[in-house]
Amino acid sequence: MKKFIPSLVMSMLIGVQANAAEDPNFNYHVDRFADIEVLRYEVPEFQRLTPQQRVMIYYLSQAAQMGRDIIWDQNGAYNLQIRQLLEQIYSNYNEDRESKDFKAFEKYLKQVWFGNGIHHHYSTDKFQPEFSREFFETQIATLDQSKLPLSEGQTPAEMISTLGEIIFNPAVMPKRVNQDGTQDVVATSAGNYYGPEVTQAEVEAYYSSLKDPNDATPVSYGLNSKIVKDKDGNLREEVYRVNGLYGPAIAEIIFWLEKAKGVAENDAQKTWIQSLINYYITGDLRTFDEYSILWAEDTKSDVDFVNGFIESYGDPLGMTGAWESYVNFKNAKSSERTEIISANAQWFEDHSPVDPKFRRDKVKGVSAKVINAAMLAGDAFPSTAIGINLPNSNWIRAAHGSKSVTIENITEAYDMASHGNGFNAEFVIDDATSKLMDKYLYITDMLHTDLHECLGHGSGRLLPGVDPDALKEHGSTLEEARADLFALYYLADPKLIELGILDNPEAYKAEYYKYMLNGLMTQLNRIEPGNDVEEAHMRNRQLIAQWALKHGKKQAAGGKDVVELTKKGGKTYVKINDYPALRKLFGKLLAEIQRVKSEGDYNAGNALVQEYAVKVDPKLHNEVLSRFSKLDIPPYRGFINPIYTPVTDEKGNIIDATISWPENYVEQMMRLSRDYSPLTK
Ligand code: ZN
Repeated sequence: MKKFIPSLVMSMLIGVQANAAEDPNFNYHVDRFADIEVLRYEVPEFQRLTPQQRVMIYYLSQAAQMGRDIIWDQNGAYNLQIRQLLEQIYSNYNEDRESKDFKAFEKYLKQVWFGNGIHHHYSTDKFQPEFSREFFETQIATLDQSKLPLSEGQTPAEMISTLGEIIFNPAVMPKRVNQDGTQDVVATSAGNYYGPEVTQAEVEAYYSSLKDPNDATPVSYGLNSKIVKDKDGNLREEVYRVNGLYGPAIAEIIFWLEKAKGVAENDAQKTWIQSLINYYITGDLRTFDEYSILWAEDTKSDVDFVNGFIESYGDPLGMTGAWESYVNFKNAKSSERTEIISANAQWFEDHSPVDPKFRRDKVKGVSAKVINAAMLAGDAFPSTAIGINLPNSNWIRAAHGSKSVTIENITEAYDMASHGNGFNAEFVIDDATSKLMDKYLYITDMLHTDLHECLGHGSGRLLPGVDPDALKEHGSTLEEARADLFALYYLADPKLIELGILDNPEAYKAEYYKYMLNGLMTQLNRIEPGNDVEEAHMRNRQLIAQWALKHGKKQAAGGKDVVELTKKGGKTYVKINDYPALRKLFGKLLAEIQRVKSEGDYNAGNALVQEYAVKVDPKLHNEVLSRFSKLDIPPYRGFINPIYTPVTDEKGNIIDATISWPENYVEQMMRLSRDYSPLTK
């Protein structure tokens, strides 16, 4: 599971105290288009690693980038072909590159790169090009016809008509992940996790025939496969493995993982890298579980990484993992904070406001650390998370623990890039609240991530026999809500002062205000007029905020509302009248959502999501959009990576690696397509 920055626009209020930036002149800003800003991130402490560790990061970065094509294909069956075609047009265009059509074309290509395909990374809506279909067809006609990226047996005319429909017809493949439970979410989602003609009912029947309700250690069914229908109408899994689907990319990944294994820090790390390689070879999910356990139990290594089919947000049924890689190393100083939290994990579990029968008797090794990202890839690039907690398998988490990380250099880059953007003045109700946020939002935001990842997701348990997928399409939303509520509840707990993590019992109010403001209002900036809230993390935040707004009516001292939406000068503001009462509400909702999860109560979960998480007040939505439009703050941000260059001795052996940031966004994307595309060669 992963946690995105709750509100990009809010985390700009840092004082210098939390800043580990190494180069005061580091330029975070890279590019700006559509609703996106592209940043670069620093990698503090890279120079303090040993040469061997730096070489390992170089090898792992290669393994990371070699998987890029996989996520493109998972996101849609035509994405790789479209990318090749667009890049050819982009490189060969000889006319006026400032013309309206070309500018619109360039914007579209930048969006497609950012989405790893033709759908928006977050809303999953298909991008609508602002250049004409005629322009598109004319450009294809001028290309060297022998170099067109035709699929097998396809003529240029067929390609033009097929891709033309897919790119320009809004009714074709409109959404990558459709979560509207009243429809067949498999048949209506454009993602490539299921082949043609496969229905939701068939997939559900297929998996329930595999699942044994008495299996205490079930594999993550469907994690690494695409389901297709054969000519007799039977479902079959095409497994992602070296001799299977995505084989050429997986072979490259294995090649670089072998190299990384050769410079691993210790035997434990070597062993789990080998186990990961074995899994990539066989595609056996039991081997993946073995790897996950070994990986979760390795808390000693400095350099660490994820490389595989991990998060299932892109699959409407939440089964199959999107390919991603995340190379990182430990930030020793900031990790002291998370080590204190995880050392006290049992105390937090025992005092949580949920029914004791849903609590975990013994919280198993929640290991938490703060890391610096060194390379982002696949589903974690260019848009990326600020916190991760893995593995996702419920029984492994319960029996062997999980690793939770807060990603400091990414959080920091967000903060550094948003100084002075005017958000506070526009949306925060008063000066006192603004000041509190200036002082405490950075640290409480980081703590919220720590608590969400290292305690929230790891807390609680399912009752025996409850299917971990019982909450179906609402599973992600409710799981994120559970982790957020756990974090919010404890952020206000005197225990944090006692542990020396916070120095002011009022500090939590900064995060509470931000959370409510974001959930009730400002995150609507990410939604097109007329649309509902769809993405799981956004639904979770609105669910919590709207539920607290409603259940706090007249519940504060003097019969006031705990939280209210109030008008000032014609503008709407969030006003919190009673912070301790708001904490109680968070605790109450946590207890209910834990019950829903523990009992697998789909109906109650569905009711919560439908009532609080989905619908938007159109008037307020318009107001938020118009207030934002005056600020010029991009709703979404992501990153390009640094480049690691090997250093060799006179015999040609790689003995070290250097880091640099020479590229802009277009240069990086074109280089990746040129050098790291094993599925399109
Ligand atoms: Zn999460």
